[in-house]
Amino acid sequence: MDADTIFAVASGAGQAAIAVMRLSGPGCHAILTALCGRVPPPRRASLRRLRDAHGDELDQAMVVWLPGPASYTGEDSAELFLHGGRAVLLGVADALVSLGARPAEPGEFTRRAFLNGRMDLTEAEAVHDLIAAETDAQRRQALRQLDGALGTLYGGWADRLRLLSAQQEALIDFPDEDLPPEVEAQVATELAALQAEVAAHLDDGRRGERLREGLVFAIAGRPNVGKSSLVNALSGRDVAIVSALPGTTRDALEARVVLGGVPVTLVDTAGLREAADAIEAEGVRRARARAADADLVIAVIEAGEPASASPVPDAAVLVANKLDLGGKVPDGGIGVSALTGAGLDILRARLAEAARSLTEGAGPPPLTQARHRAALQEAAARLAGAQTAEWPELRAEDLRLALRALGRITGSVGVEDILDTLFARFCIGK
Ligand code: GDP
Repeated sequence: MDADTIFAVASGAGQAAIAVMRLSGPGCHAILTALCGRVPPPRRASLRRLRDAHGDELDQAMVVWLPGPASYTGEDSAELFLHGGRAVLLGVADALVSLGARPAEPGEFTRRAFLNGRMDLTEAEAVHDLIAAETDAQRRQALRQLDGALGTLYGGWADRLRLLSAQQEALIDFPDEDLPPEVEAQVATELAALQAEVAAHLDDGRRGERLREGLVFAIAGRPNVGKSSLVNALSGRDVAIVSALPGTTRDALEARVVLGGVPVTLVDTAGLREAADAIEAEGVRRARARAADADLVIAVIEAGEPASASPVPDAAVLVANKLDLGGKVPDGGIGVSALTGAGLDILRARLAEAARSLTEGAGPPPLTQARHRAALQEAAARLAGAQTAEWPELRAEDLRLALRALGRITGSVGVEDILDTLFARFCIGK
């Protein structure tokens, strides 16, 4: 347990009716006593007058006393529902400091929750993702992870590996005749099964990571076919500069939209043409880079042109724009008019379907983070190594290393080095 008692405003910044001040650490009981006279009964919201050391009234607030270990952090904690004014918050913060507490670092509450065994690292990461979630699908994924879906999956593999390791050690330590002959075959079968499961999980088309990070759809097409107009029409904003002169779209103009419950960044690739000046060249360079690793390319032509006019032959979606001018839509294309809005619903539905199929899948929860992927790849490599190891000792070592890699994901082994980076991404008060 940490000796410090920490505090932070856990609600958002700025003036608000109510602000939630969160406290955690061994000093909570004494601080509450000093601040509001009587500590309320555990987990019961109670109205209290808060006073500083001189008896000056700071606020009338709802106070909740959350004794450890059944609290978020596992420590003695409290939540103060203060009036959200600046003077109130500063006054209470000053009083807390004079009572021996200190302001929390970003993510420090959740870090303590992890260190006190209240959650594993995948759950701590889910707290961050839930706070950052912008769409329903992201929220569902984060909640599932917060529920321990990933921790259970990886923890289950770790348990099986631990058993395998023990069996392998036994095969080394005891002469053959002491062990049932089938143990060696069992180890080999289970090893292969485990490796197949990890490999299948890795081979998920990055759908969980894609949902977490959001997708990138690049819009490609000749200058003046109406790419910027399409980005504007799809996003309902005036993000891109639309002009009748080719080459006036100066940047990799981007708009965030939600399609099928997934955040999608639409990137207008600025025509992917040769740039006339330096600023435009930079825009084109960035657009190319974004388009190259886009999750989907939307190719735009003008209605009346053949499909072969598409700048990207194998684009997932072919859009024939300027339908209002009367041209024909080639087979497989979606006819739209960015100007009148005709066909945009169909295009939107098609893009939403693509966004869903890139991120949804049945079955076990998907991988959600590059950090997990790296550790799982290491585990998979070790499991593969174990299967081809020539010596039992080498196989045992591979199993140990695979277990360590899995343990790093949930935080059950050697994670000191990753904690700082992981929790620094959090906001203060989480
Ligand atoms: P970009 O260079 O591909 O980004 O094209 P813009 O979006 O800048 O559009 C080029 C020109 O085509 C502008 O004058 C737009 O007003 C016009 N335009 C865009 N979409 C349509 C459309 O659906 N119908 C018609 N008639 N004109 C359009």
